[in-house]
Amino acid sequence: MFDKILIANRGEIALRVIRAAREMGIKSVAVHSTADADAMHVRMADEAVCIGPPPSTDSYLSIPAIISACEITGAQAIHPGYGFLSENANFVQIVEDHGITFIGPTAEHIRMMGDKITAKDTMKALGVPCVPGSDGGVPTLDDAKRIGAEIGYPVIVKATAGGGGRGMKVALTAAEMESAFMTARSESKAAFGNDEVYIEKYLTTPRHIEIQVFGDGKGRAVHLGERDCSLQRRHQKVFEEAPGPVITPEERARIGKVCADAVAKINYIGAGTIEFLYEKGEFYFIEMNTRLQVEHPVTEAIFGVDLVREQIRVAEGLPMSFTQEDLTINGHAIEVRINAEKLPNFAPCPGRITQYHAPGGLGVRIDSALYDGYRIPPYYDSLIGKLIVHGRDRPEALARLARALGELIVDGVDTTIPLFHALLQEEDVQTGNYNIHWLEHWLKTHLPA
Ligand code: ADP
Repeated sequence: MFDKILIANRGEIALRVIRAAREMGIKSVAVHSTADADAMHVRMADEAVCIGPPPSTDSYLSIPAIISACEITGAQAIHPGYGFLSENANFVQIVEDHGITFIGPTAEHIRMMGDKITAKDTMKALGVPCVPGSDGGVPTLDDAKRIGAEIGYPVIVKATAGGGGRGMKVALTAAEMESAFMTARSESKAAFGNDEVYIEKYLTTPRHIEIQVFGDGKGRAVHLGERDCSLQRRHQKVFEEAPGPVITPEERARIGKVCADAVAKINYIGAGTIEFLYEKGEFYFIEMNTRLQVEHPVTEAIFGVDLVREQIRVAEGLPMSFTQEDLTINGHAIEVRINAEKLPNFAPCPGRITQYHAPGGLGVRIDSALYDGYRIPPYYDSLIGKLIVHGRDRPEALARLARALGELIVDGVDTTIPLFHALLQEEDVQTGNYNIHWLEHWLKTHLPA
């Protein structure tokens, strides 16, 4: 059993882990940059260690600094949160080499899923349905043109090392292939230091549906249904819900079992998300995230489980505290991401919070590191909080979201709160009638930049 764990992250996700640890009687160590000396995660943890200056490359991404913080404090395990080092196989290797437990999957699994071509090949072999496309990397423009003609336009050129929606370009016709191929390659080289790309059929009106899986590392795994994260801006999620408004119980059981069986077969340990595009009743695998997701609370709400607690348990070598049969869906949950951003351009808007009031009441959860007087530093992600609501059904969750948003006060900086007030007025949002392009279209007409 762990006595003390270190959280290699900041913001709301660091609080999320500290809270789970405290409920389990485990002490927590926060790490922070000099810019975060007054941050909530530093105040809330049992101990805190400054690991460097503001830029994340010198602090939250500094492996030596994090390992030293573990050694000074005697933390036996590291929870990486999401982002930063959470999907860095090299980090996991170093952590384990120092006799510290990484709360998450093995370096091997992270490597396997971090390279999108290997991930696709692995999933295909495990019986998971994939988007039709090139088998492997596409080295030259001639290859790209040949493959484009074979699978049929439109196609999407994607970076093998991609993430965060970068290094992806659509070619609607053969004439657009050259520019799509070249741009995807150069963007990928600049962002990831690797210019390998692959090609997929471009699905025109899919929904983004992702399956939450959880494994014990010993060949047992379960699924916790799906989340619909189709409302995206620049391939980034802004509004997520569970269950998906159009997924039937039969579809859920079928794709959920395929995913749980796949991760059981590779002895996957901890939380993972298998992402799909969903169109006309078919699921197409796009990638697997080997970590806790930002949007995990909607799944926690409808299943009544604590995924972070479960991650810590399996990292300690304990069994999962539930079986597939124990997992039944209760109601509907929605999460909206509150970012410190100025509409309509979504420009980051750091600054001092002059007034903060969190909503409450039945079925409302706020995961946020904000407090009155907090100064949002300009160095990190603009996510400042997540509002999660849970209702007996989707209409109740929507009504609760509108009510809770009305109570939420964040003054001093611009936020995405007005966006959600406006979206809730839309009939398509009320009925769940949207796909991955819906929000971009809506923004063009309602919030022209
Ligand atoms: P990243 O790792 O950068 O997030 P993903 O592969 O998860 O990249 O894709 C992110 C988003 O890009 C998807 O949610 C979807 O909106 C869009 N996308 C990716 N692949 C396709 C495809 N084959 N057809 C249509 N849209 C796609």
